[in-house]
Amino acid sequence: MAQPTDSLFEENLRPQKLDDFLGQEKIKERLYILVQAAKIKKEPLPHLLFSGPPGLGKTTLAHILSKEMNASLKITSGPALDKAANLAGILTTLESFDFLFIDEIHRLSRPVEEYLYPAMEDFRMDILIDQGPNARSIRLNLPKFTLVGATTRVGLLTEPLRSRFGLINRLEYYKLEELVKIVQRSSRILEMEINEVAAREVAKRCRGTPRTVNHLLKWIRDYAYAKGHQKISLNVVNDALAMIEIDEDGLDEMDKKILETIVYKFEGGPVGLQSLAVAVGEDPGTLEEVHEPYLIMEGYIKRTPQGRVVTTRAYEKLKVAPPSAQVE
Ligand code: ADP
Repeated sequence: MAQPTDSLFEENLRPQKLDDFLGQEKIKERLYILVQAAKIKKEPLPHLLFSGPPGLGKTTLAHILSKEMNASLKITSGPALDKAANLAGILTTLESFDFLFIDEIHRLSRPVEEYLYPAMEDFRMDILIDQGPNARSIRLNLPKFTLVGATTRVGLLTEPLRSRFGLINRLEYYKLEELVKIVQRSSRILEMEINEVAAREVAKRCRGTPRTVNHLLKWIRDYAYAKGHQKISLNVVNDALAMIEIDEDGLDEMDKKILETIVYKFEGGPVGLQSLAVAVGEDPGTLEEVHEPYLIMEGYIKRTPQGRVVTTRAYEKLKVAPPSAQVE
């Protein structure tokens, strides 16, 4: 196995072309169409919004699209654009066809967001300079660019902003077979020799998330170095992941805390989002849009009109008997 040089690997791990981006087939099909059409029309891509939990590939898709269009990508985030001047500063460095990626776009302040509307629609920005009698506005004409917004909290986007995107794409957690391929691809890049059963085990334990695949693989690689294993077998994966307390279903600490809290503090539920958020010490929105979707998809909890309830799978997971009244 090669020596680890993590920052170099980090960039190499990011798929560079749509063909290398595994999974999210529906979104990819749409993007192929948009890229083809944009090239024929000699127009920039329309503005795009990617939503979904962290680590599923939103930033990666922005990188890929800018490469497909032979354009540059500038990266910023909602909280970083705290003044209209910051937005103007970055927009005026763009050239035609370039991409501006705004991460956490739901955190843009309202005034900055309002400056963004004409920038997105008509590629112009009217900036007010000075105050009082000297106040005047100057118009900045911008190059035709593509805005790519990313958000984990699509529900927080205002309607005027949302409606200015040509296409809204929700990224889903990856399926097991897709994750196996991602594990195998990342292992090749990290120069790890991993057999199929071991790769499948990593895929099962990554919470449906490619970023977690890469984190787990790096840990497993370090573990293998330290223990002198040349090849990654199922035993190596099991031992390495046991050491960092990643359980057989891949649930992380917050996942387990949520299940334990509903079971032990709220007697299995129903519990409202706010009370649950306070009890686990997490922001309600993050809880709802980052942590819960995976637990719901995997059948550990359900949302009901009365609040969140755990299912028998959660009791099995925590190895406690469900109350006899609990019927699924
Ligand atoms: P997000 O922006 O949604 O938080 P990123 O685009 O930063 O997620 O993805 C995290 C990492 O996961 C990337 O560096 C990349 O290596 C990997 N990754 C994401 N999506 C895929 C995919 N579909 N195939 C392979 N690797 C992926």
